[in-house]
Amino acid sequence: MINIYLDHNSCSPLTPLVRKKMIEAMDHIANPSSIHSHGRKAKQYIEDAREKIANFCNINDKRCIIFTSEATEANITALNPFWRYNNKKIILNKLIISSIEHSSILYGGNFQYNNKIIVPVDSNGVIILDELSKVLKNNNPSLVSIMAANNETGVIQPLYEIGKLVKHYNSLLHIDATQAFDKLEINLDRWKADSIAISAHKFGGPQGIGALILRSLNCCIYPLITGGGQENGYRSGTENIIAIAGFGAAIESIKENKKNIENIKYLRNQLERSIKTLSPQIIIFSEKVNRIINTTCFTIPNILAETALIYFDLEGISISSGSACSAGKKNNLSHVLTAMGYNSKIVKNALRISLGWNTTKNDIKKLLSVYSKIINELQ
Ligand code: PMP
Repeated sequence: MINIYLDHNSCSPLTPLVRKKMIEAMDHIANPSSIHSHGRKAKQYIEDAREKIANFCNINDKRCIIFTSEATEANITALNPFWRYNNKKIILNKLIISSIEHSSILYGGNFQYNNKIIVPVDSNGVIILDELSKVLKNNNPSLVSIMAANNETGVIQPLYEIGKLVKHYNSLLHIDATQAFDKLEINLDRWKADSIAISAHKFGGPQGIGALILRSLNCCIYPLITGGGQENGYRSGTENIIAIAGFGAAIESIKENKKNIENIKYLRNQLERSIKTLSPQIIIFSEKVNRIINTTCFTIPNILAETALIYFDLEGISISSGSACSAGKKNNLSHVLTAMGYNSKIVKNALRISLGWNTTKNDIKKLLSVYSKIINELQ
């Protein structure tokens, strides 16, 4: 039985470097808030990882990296309408998001805003900047939350333009960078982002650890979880040493895998060319716009995604239909593709393949041979 994993956008397997570091950290479990040598050793794992993340994003003040349980918690922390700006509490009771955000942004937090505005995207899944501008003009200051890259289609949003607009209208910008962190150059200054959210398991780190990264402590969140005052008071609860150590190692893995990026892009493009040859009527979503290099989302006419997924699974190939996170939701229909204007007949057939650090040429070859069987047998 072959065993091929092409679902890195839902979770990317641990890299060998991460695995090694986590096993090492298992021998150093102690409470990092304790002042004895065991506690100090445990704390060292946290501070090393924090430093690596800060350097990776060009952040000078390490305290701007706040470890959270996941990107979901980081997103929700940023959605809190209470922020602190130049040591003064401010309330942002208007929230502006796009229609294709992850569910943690669309439904997270249960905060009360006076106004929650959803800005549409075009048929390629790119936010309509004129609409954003209009909304900001009539609702400022606002808290704006936009994703860097979409988990289903891979579409990269025009982050510099968004940042310029948000700042022109005196508002705050949070970027959900969960799918982009290892694939784009992360620079909060250039994006004019006040904060970003990330999750380690999207780039070879462990599950259950993420971070909220602030551009500066001058513009700062209020903690969602208070208590023992860990994370400089920004997120209480004893830190998960093993996961944080793995997070730090995942940053090293990103750097190590940088040389592989062109190869992943080549394999994704080759995959798209081949499926188009095998089934010329296929729709590849957002094909013409800027996308992260590892993702392809397409629809096979007349074959339900669920049926195709089971077929691939029986052949030992793991892929996804749209977002794994929206599985089990209303009709199981992708809100992203629906927001792009596709009807349910097309959306129901949509598959997502996401490549990652361990994807090989052979994986793509085998996937294509199963794809061709599916087309011949089911269509
Ligand atoms: N944002 C985006 C864009 C995502 O893709 C995901 C995970 N699919 C999340 C947020 C949430 O990440 P987590 O489940 O790790 O909290």
